[in-house]
Amino acid sequence: MTTKDEGGRSPQPTGETAGAVRSHSGPEEILALKKQYLIPCVYHFYKRPPHLVAAEGVWMFDSAGRRYLDAYSGVTVMSAGHGNREILDAAAEQASRLQHTTTIYLTEPLVRLAEALAGVAPGELCRSFFCASGSEANEGAMLLASLKTGRSDFLALDHGLHGRTKLAASATGLPMWRTDPRPLETVHFISSPYCARCPWCRTYPGCGMECLDAVERKIGEVGAHRLAGMILEPVAGNGGIIVPPLEYLSGLADLCRRSNILLILDEIQTGFGRTGHWFACEASGVVPDIMTVAKALGNGFPIAAFITNDDIAGAYTKPGASTFGGNPVCCAAALATLAVHRRDSLADRARELGLWLGRRLERLAGSSPVLEVRGRGLMWGIELVDFAGEPDAALCDDILERAKDEGFLIGKTGPGRNVLTLMPPLVVEQSELEPLVDMLEACLC
Ligand code: PMP
Repeated sequence: MTTKDEGGRSPQPTGETAGAVRSHSGPEEILALKKQYLIPCVYHFYKRPPHLVAAEGVWMFDSAGRRYLDAYSGVTVMSAGHGNREILDAAAEQASRLQHTTTIYLTEPLVRLAEALAGVAPGELCRSFFCASGSEANEGAMLLASLKTGRSDFLALDHGLHGRTKLAASATGLPMWRTDPRPLETVHFISSPYCARCPWCRTYPGCGMECLDAVERKIGEVGAHRLAGMILEPVAGNGGIIVPPLEYLSGLADLCRRSNILLILDEIQTGFGRTGHWFACEASGVVPDIMTVAKALGNGFPIAAFITNDDIAGAYTKPGASTFGGNPVCCAAALATLAVHRRDSLADRARELGLWLGRRLERLAGSSPVLEVRGRGLMWGIELVDFAGEPDAALCDDILERAKDEGFLIGKTGPGRNVLTLMPPLVVEQSELEPLVDMLEACLC
């Protein structure tokens, strides 16, 4: 616990610890400071976490000079690679001219980014509101849906994660991330289309899409007249890379349209090429009413948005502002990021490399601790189970640690924390992924 001096002040940090990044501090020192100064909820992966100090392309480096393949991209953020010169130069150039204004003043990067997003967003989604995090984007999207419909309730999936703010957290179904002891009761949950453990004990494709019937039943139970919309991720990232059948999303869009409720797609993990399309909904031919984006949009700069069509945007006319939303530096970085994605066809790259990666990972599917390998593009999960078929979080942790010790940073997700998760930067080469898959094979086969 921190001791305070007689004036009740905490001791001043030393020059050493006050420095932003001091590469000569080791992980033990960082861990001690973390324990002393951070709220305990800020957790980290690994029993022996590396102290990361630098990154370039798909590689990260720790304070001991070890190199790691980043196969998690800081949770799908660094899709265009770490230290991307074009993006950094655009941000630095903007920062040196005009760093901050907020949206009450007229600046160009904000509107240019909105224009660029309208160019890549599906269908007629063409109006953006910028903010600084995914949580805010989802909170804002749900506010907009309430403004448009005049209703307050939402449907969400039990494997979804939508953020830490009150409503976004209330719409988060994953128990691990439902921290609020009193979440709003206006969100109604439905079981996810999780074919590996179908909640209705059916087998795709002969299942009659019971998962869609469940949504229809829930709409009937709650009453469409109370529902503003349904929010979900097209592929549930934190939920364990739950990849629904393509017709799930199209069926859902149809259901929402017929029930006159809005479809909000959280593309915060799946957006910007991750699944082999600009946005994951494109694979199902679905255009949501509102779409939220964050993470890879800024390639490490904090920027997020909710995007909608002219008609729905027209419901939000009361002044709205976000101090950091649409910050010129983040907008310049995001514009450069989109340019890199477009020029280097990163979505196509993710799709093609993803086909190879999927084929390689499928070989693991026959081994006993692997319940299922699933994914799209460069977003893959390997679900691990014990001899009784129960989630094996301990094995998942062991492999995560071993991978790190062998120079690979991968993730873990799922309600049982038993899904190894691979989401490398989209600029990764096949030859860089091969040793990682070999290592996983050695662990699991
Ligand atoms: N939605 C999804 C799908 C996410 O993965 C996350 C973050 N992991 C969020 C929303 C919340 O984003 P943020 O942490 O930027 O608030």
